[in-house]
Amino acid sequence: MSTTQETKVEQEAVKRDFYHLIINGEKVKSSTGETIKTYNPATGELVAEVAKASKEDTEKAVAAAREAFDNGKWKKYPVGRRAQVLNKIAAIMRSRFNELVELEVLDTGKTIHAAQGQITQAIEDFEFYAGAIVGHRGTVNNVPGQFHNYTEKEPVGVCAQITPWNYPMMMAAWKIAPAIAVGCSVIVKPASLTPLTTIVLGEICQEAGVPAGVVNIVPGSGAEVGDYLVGHPQVDKVAFTGSTPIGKDIMAKASQTLKRVTLELGGKSPNLVFADADIDAAVDGSLFGIFYNSGQSCEARSRLYVHEDIYDEFVGKFVEKAKKIKLGDPLDKGTHMGAIIDQGQLDTIDSYVQSAIQDGAEVLAGGKQVHPEGYENGFWYEPTVIANVNHDMKVVQEEIFGPVVVVMKFKDEKEAIRLANDTDFGLGSAIWTKDGARATRVANQIQAGIVMINCPFSAFPGTPFGGYKQSGFGRELSIESLDLYTETKSILSYYGSRPINPLGV
Ligand code: NAP
Ligand code: MG
Repeated sequence: MSTTQETKVEQEAVKRDFYHLIINGEKVKSSTGETIKTYNPATGELVAEVAKASKEDTEKAVAAAREAFDNGKWKKYPVGRRAQVLNKIAAIMRSRFNELVELEVLDTGKTIHAAQGQITQAIEDFEFYAGAIVGHRGTVNNVPGQFHNYTEKEPVGVCAQITPWNYPMMMAAWKIAPAIAVGCSVIVKPASLTPLTTIVLGEICQEAGVPAGVVNIVPGSGAEVGDYLVGHPQVDKVAFTGSTPIGKDIMAKASQTLKRVTLELGGKSPNLVFADADIDAAVDGSLFGIFYNSGQSCEARSRLYVHEDIYDEFVGKFVEKAKKIKLGDPLDKGTHMGAIIDQGQLDTIDSYVQSAIQDGAEVLAGGKQVHPEGYENGFWYEPTVIANVNHDMKVVQEEIFGPVVVVMKFKDEKEAIRLANDTDFGLGSAIWTKDGARATRVANQIQAGIVMINCPFSAFPGTPFGGYKQSGFGRELSIESLDLYTETKSILSYYGSRPINPLGV
């Protein structure tokens, strides 16, 4: 792959033993020499070491992003030229597709099938924003005669982007692509557990011709690097994806400098199966809804409500298939579900299951840690189905972030809606019914940012993604995201021939 004039970073193999920080277009080691070790959750084996950003490194990244934004050329490029660079990022990612997929699998323990879908989406995000930015513009507004008003969309500035470990490269793409499309500079802090593909994406940005300082990548501790970015007066916006408690802290801290904030937080998404649903399609879609990505999805449909008339049939089929889900080699295309990210998450999942059992719930499938053959040292949990719960139990109300679903009965549409909305969260939701009017009615009353009707998938590039209530605010993946990385400037001018003297002095 040829490099452009602006490139300072030479591409190495995607998979390697050591990964650098990216600050001001350079690959650098940490100022302290410290590193983060990243492990393969499927095997427990070391994958690589990564330079761990210190406060000093983070300060340099902020300064580079500031300089690139205030005095650099990126935001001044004609929009078509920025679009061209975004398309080039996508093209380089596509040319390294298999390597990126393999690295994501090694760093996360997810299945190759899942990683392929997510890397494909990350690529398509850059292509989507390359197209969307061309049409993103201000407006001309109706004002009284002899006045002219138009608006301009200006990039918000330097953006800190903090991402979680469940979809590392996809979350990085959701954040970097719209921000640089509008002309912002970014400092990305990936999750310490899964920094690798984000670093490679940062390198690809340099290779594609993004000027130095526009995309900086600083893996490091959330409590140190993340917190420092959120409080930094030179950072204009924070975009965070992660847990609700950390999102609340970030919002409070960012308020001190009135940063723009978008938060994509946790969920406990309901999945409603009505009596007239295509039961087999609903079973398959509901299995995907919870067990995809080992349940480590913010929009995992972890509360399954089934109409009482079909409850036994549906749950029978659902449990039978849940027990057939194959765990094992994540790089084998026949594997259905991958590993859990680490021991801590495994313990959290199990403690939720144990609390449900203690509260009198019944485990219909799974319910324990497993050790697939050849993967004895990794972190694995059985696909778990829990019944006989009441709505106050922790397992029904709190986000578990693992392959655990609770199933409950409902008797009519009204009750289904009431139960679906009985949560602090409001991210995803799903409805299974053949009655189109019912689907529309229920979709209209569910308090969630996303409603899936007879559909297992929550989003494609172009569909707004984000939550109601304590699932956060702001929408990613869509045109709206461009608005969230811009300020609107209103420009009002007077073109009358006679001077005006409003005070009459
Ligand atoms: P997390 O613990 O909140 O961490 C998310 C990111 O924030 C990590 O990069 C973390 O860094 C960093 N961080 C931690 N403490 C911080 C602080 N005080 N200030 C600034 N940054 C800080 O979440 P997670 O466990 O990685 O991810 C799972 C959560 O993300 C779930 O709740 C899930 O629902 C949510 N999620 C939401 C969406 C969505 O779109 N709504 C998508 C995916 C995931 P380190 O971990 O490196 O220390
Ligand atoms: Mg890892």
